[in-house]
Amino acid sequence: PPVAVVCIGMAGSGKTTFMQRINSHLHTLAVESPTTHTPPYVLNLDPAVRSVPFESNIDIRDSVNYKEVMKQYNLGPNGGILTSLNLFSTKIDQIMAILEKRCLPSATPTPTTTSSSSQPAETTSRPQHILIDTPGQIEVFVWSASGSILLSSLASSFPTVLAYVIDTPRTTANTSTFMSNMLYAVSILYKIKLPMILVFNKTDVKDESEAVEWMRDFESFQAALRKEEEDQMAGQEGSGYMNSLLNSMSLVLEEFYNHLSVVGVSSMTGNGVDDFFAAVEEKREEFERDYRPEMEKRV
Ligand code: GDP
Ligand code: MG
Repeated sequence: PPVAVVCIGMAGSGKTTFMQRINSHLHTLAVESPTTHTPPYVLNLDPAVRSVPFESNIDIRDSVNYKEVMKQYNLGPNGGILTSLNLFSTKIDQIMAILEKRCLPSATPTPTTTSSSSQPAETTSRPQHILIDTPGQIEVFVWSASGSILLSSLASSFPTVLAYVIDTPRTTANTSTFMSNMLYAVSILYKIKLPMILVFNKTDVKDESEAVEWMRDFESFQAALRKEEEDQMAGQEGSGYMNSLLNSMSLVLEEFYNHLSVVGVSSMTGNGVDDFFAAVEEKREEFERDYRPEMEKRV
């Protein structure tokens, strides 16, 4: 079966641009080596996006009108997105039926009348990847009931991995921003319980090496902390408790980091996209080995 890749991340981290990049990467592969690669199946779950820079097979905007929802229920932007997602998730049975029909091999290989030349071609064209873009406002998807329904439905039919997209230049600007982003990723991992890839995006602006070093080497994170402390030494108090908090949290995070795949990419230039797909294969195996048995226990 195909692997489902769900892109999540803070608004502006580059989810949509990343989707566009991996989508066109897979399309190119499918054209270059049609015997081994197929185009992905693509879903847009962001009701508020104005234009989607890639072609999607299922688009939430086809079934709910975000602007109308806001008007009709007298909601602000976030309420509008949440309500649109809720309305969409009531149709999850239909969506899953479409996905399964399109993406899974038919359960009974219909014994067609002898000369069905279209049959083999049809089978090989089944997508190997399902790509899913989510609303810019990460919390609306990750912490809502409809987000959970969509994710668990998906994961019950397909190996499913999360791509947590990070704005590298922003996130590594200082240690506390980095730490809060990592803690957010941990809380999502524990909430959603699916394999996760950290995608350090925008490496054309700043590469991921510093972030990776902070993750892998506790001492280097501490050193960065100390440096910041010295830089702020204008006699202002108050950073003391903050730094000791960051210090102890980074110890906790060490455990979390061990469970993740980390890749650096530029959605702008396409750098690192091959690494990303290697990580996807790794996480697909992890899903089958560790997560599927857990999920079957939960049912
Ligand atoms: P989303 O809200 O997470 O979907 O983010 P978008 O995909 O809309 O991107 C937000 C902004 O970041 C846009 O201005 C993009 O052009 C920019 N962006 C996305 N990926 C990259 C990248 O790899 N490099 C650079 N330099 N900018 C990027
Ligand atoms: Mg987007």
